[in-house]
Amino acid sequence: MDEEEYNFNEMQAQWAAVRGKIRQKVGDALFKSWFKPISLVSFESGILILSVPNQFIKTRINGEYLDLLKDHWLNQNNNIERFEIVIVKNNMKDSDFHSEPINFSNERLGKDDPKNKSYDITDNIGANLDQRFTFSNFIVGKPNELAFAAARRVAESQDVPFNPLFLYGGVGLGKTHLMHAIAHEIKRMNPVRRVIYLSAEKFMYHFIKALRFKNTVAFKEQFRTVDVLMIDDVQFISGKESTQEEFFHTFNALVDQNKQLIISADKSPQDLEGIEERMRSRLGWGLVADIHPLTYELRLSILQAKSEKIASNIPENVLEFLAHKITTNVRELEGALNRIAAFSSLVGKEVNIEMTHDLLRDLLKSSQRKVNIEQIQKKVSEHFNVKMSDMSSARRSRTVVRPRQIAMYLSKNLTSRSLPEIGRRFGNRDHTTVIHAVKKVEELRNLDVSFDEDVELLIRMLES
Ligand code: ADP
Ligand code: MG
Repeated sequence: MDEEEYNFNEMQAQWAAVRGKIRQKVGDALFKSWFKPISLVSFESGILILSVPNQFIKTRINGEYLDLLKDHWLNQNNNIERFEIVIVKNNMKDSDFHSEPINFSNERLGKDDPKNKSYDITDNIGANLDQRFTFSNFIVGKPNELAFAAARRVAESQDVPFNPLFLYGGVGLGKTHLMHAIAHEIKRMNPVRRVIYLSAEKFMYHFIKALRFKNTVAFKEQFRTVDVLMIDDVQFISGKESTQEEFFHTFNALVDQNKQLIISADKSPQDLEGIEERMRSRLGWGLVADIHPLTYELRLSILQAKSEKIASNIPENVLEFLAHKITTNVRELEGALNRIAAFSSLVGKEVNIEMTHDLLRDLLKSSQRKVNIEQIQKKVSEHFNVKMSDMSSARRSRTVVRPRQIAMYLSKNLTSRSLPEIGRRFGNRDHTTVIHAVKKVEELRNLDVSFDEDVELLIRMLES
């Protein structure tokens, strides 16, 4: 054999044997946790590549089971010279991934044939784009104005205004929306420009697949002819060295040819962990634009725009209520709005706050970051400059009673603890004391604007 002709069916049979042996050895429970999630990716040039769905499993295997795995594999196949474990997430949103799982049938593709359609990621680029993610559907406010302006500039320029454009921000804040909007706009203004939009996971998936079929030349070839390359959620390739390496080369080659790159991530280039230093610094060369957490004003504008779009007749005070309560991200705002609109059209009832409350009980809870009573006590005592121990002490002076009541009120509203439990945590007080505190604070919030603002501020601090 001048090159390792491998037969994938045979590898699969070997893998089945390895798994059977390991199962006998470690027992069903351990097998299920650590070995069942492993998939065979490829065996080429003496390198066996296995994939696992996450870092957690990878670490555990490397730490405890690598020898076991190796021994059993080598018993089956002594041509293996090296083992590699890669992470391939299997909960990818990309529908393509699901319809095209790594399968181990005998399909062989023409080696290094650039025309090979199986790798043409660019073919279905249009299908990847969400039609609703346009610039005109994007609501702009302080937190996202820089990102929006930068995205527009890139979409409208004939040349490359900054390279790369690096967008970052928390989940559900509109990064993917902006990238799709750029793609739509470029296609509209200049249909001959070639745009590729890919999630980093998908980039990795195609890369691994190309490796498996010894088709990396074709893989690279597709990027060479592109004008704009967008890679979404680049944090996913952290820790994946070979994918990073490939990405780095692709990136450099395109920048050298003055092609536009647009990258998104959940963190700034400097803060990306598990990404090589040279890559991080390279990513920060162009314009780095972050999307900040949404302000109340922007949340409300987004709700108003979306509500208008779906022609719901949700009253303004309900929208305000939602904008107050759901602070995490736009995706949750949309979810809440859709649920209320659907419900009201089904039952044909006028929407009000009470009904919204009932409908969104679960959402409202999960949207609040989990805080515990202790954190609340700590924050409140800091804020009012009282001792933490006074939260549970018997002192009854006004300076400590009010903060204590506020902390009880917040514990009731921000945690799922019961009244008696809350009472216990505040120096073994009775649950009626907690009820009294809650009522008192509600009353004061209604009466006194600056008191209300104080409480609101505390809620925000605890939730963010
Ligand atoms: P990310 O990629 O940052 O996690 P997405 O771009 O997927 O977030 O946005 C999540 C949802 O919120 C999408 O439906 C998107 O259309 C919507 N969205 C986010 N930001 C805005 C905005 N400023 N205006 C309108 N819709 C938005
Ligand atoms: Mg996204």
